[in-house]
Amino acid sequence: MYSEQNPARHYIALTLVWLLLGAALGLHFPDVDTRFQWLISPRLLLHRSAVTHGLIVPSLLFLSARAKGKAPSFRSFIIGFSLASAVHLCFDFFPRGWVGFALIHVPLYGRTTALFSQAWIMLGMLVCLYLAFLLVRRLIELAFGAGILAASFIVSAAEHAGPVLNALALLLVAVGALVTALRFRKPASGLTR
Ligand SMILES: [Zn+2]
Repeated sequence: MYSEQNPARHYIALTLVWLLLGAALGLHFPDVDTRFQWLISPRLLLHRSAVTHGLIVPSLLFLSARAKGKAPSFRSFIIGFSLASAVHLCFDFFPRGWVGFALIHVPLYGRTTALFSQAWIMLGMLVCLYLAFLLVRRLIELAFGAGILAASFIVSAAEHAGPVLNALALLLVAVGALVTALRFRKPASGLTR
């Protein structure tokens, strides 16, 4: 319950709730076509569409989160969404084979090649992680973000029987590459407590 005497605790709780909500959606949104087959026409959205699997939706959300006047809760939601989307893509990078529904589908074009699909998923994963990092303003968000990434991975691992170790290795490499790249970037204005 909100307490006037402890706004910091209220802020932390609110941040965590929105991060978790974003993560819950981001983890499963890419496969929205399979979960709502009865609602979504295959002509509109096929499985592993480039629209749902990759950088398009997280980028649009990122741009709207950066718009003036957006509440911090919305930013937390997008951080959670982007991190969980990255984890989803991480697992999707290891299908049983790069054929059929494993390939990225581009509306009006059709299924792409295995190489394009791999590159698209990899790019989407890196962009999702990067956008989430760009939205982080406070140390507590960074800490929660790391926790959300780990929790999303655990949930995905429970849902996917197969490529857990491969997905973990890929995620660690992606995070490591991003952290290394960001070290060469001009120092940000700084995280606040
Ligand atoms: Zn997927």
